[in-house]
Amino acid sequence: MSKLVIFTAPSGAGKTTIVRHLLQRFDNLAFSVSATTRKQRAHEIDGRDYYFLTPEEFMQRVAHGDFLEWEEVYPGQYYGTLRSEIERLWQEGKDVIFDIDVKGAWRIKQAYPDKSLAVFVMPPSPKTLFERLRNRHTENEESLHMRIARASEELKWAPRFDVILVNDHLEDALKQAEKIVGEFLNTPH
Ligand code: ADP
Ligand code: 5GP
Repeated sequence: MSKLVIFTAPSGAGKTTIVRHLLQRFDNLAFSVSATTRKQRAHEIDGRDYYFLTPEEFMQRVAHGDFLEWEEVYPGQYYGTLRSEIERLWQEGKDVIFDIDVKGAWRIKQAYPDKSLAVFVMPPSPKTLFERLRNRHTENEESLHMRIARASEELKWAPRFDVILVNDHLEDALKQAEKIVGEFLNTPH
């Protein structure tokens, strides 16, 4: 039976960096591509990084019950996990890895408690989180502040998850992530 690996954290903590690394390390892992209404970034590809939807398309899919979970993560910006995405990957026999916000992570964990591992990526400090987000150069001042404003609330969710992974020195965090995920995927259940 396929397993679910959930990575969650405030924006800027490093979960996308860690998830990309794990995808290269574990052949049977596949990324759950979420749907979102936020603007596509320059390097992003529709269908690989996200399914980019208009707010109307997103709400139609909400009305059809197409989402396993969805969330207005930032004001006016919707994100969600499509049921069809997980089903598609399971049919291929893949283990699925998620990069989602704390509430979505909690819902998926509750939906599949016996076959999921939820990892909270903790930044070394709020100051470092802010610097990483700023240095990523993906946000304007408004969205940067929106993300920082939400971060302190998200940090409080950390103890709910199975593992807290501190992302200070990247090489150490990547090695630790490999160990945690490798052990989980290799444990029979
Ligand atoms: P998230 O997906 O959680 O929003 P990202 O993976 O996009 O975070 O990381 C945010 C920024 O911080 C990126 O520019 C990334 O290259 C950088 N970064 C990630 N981990 C570290 C680390 N341990 N040390 C320094 N910079 C990091
Ligand atoms: P970003 O805009 O930086 O790609 O993502 C912003 C936040 O939305 C991150 O915390 C990311 O993990 C979260 N996110 C991405 N996809 C989903 C999803 O399908 N559901 C939920 N609930 N959050 C998501």
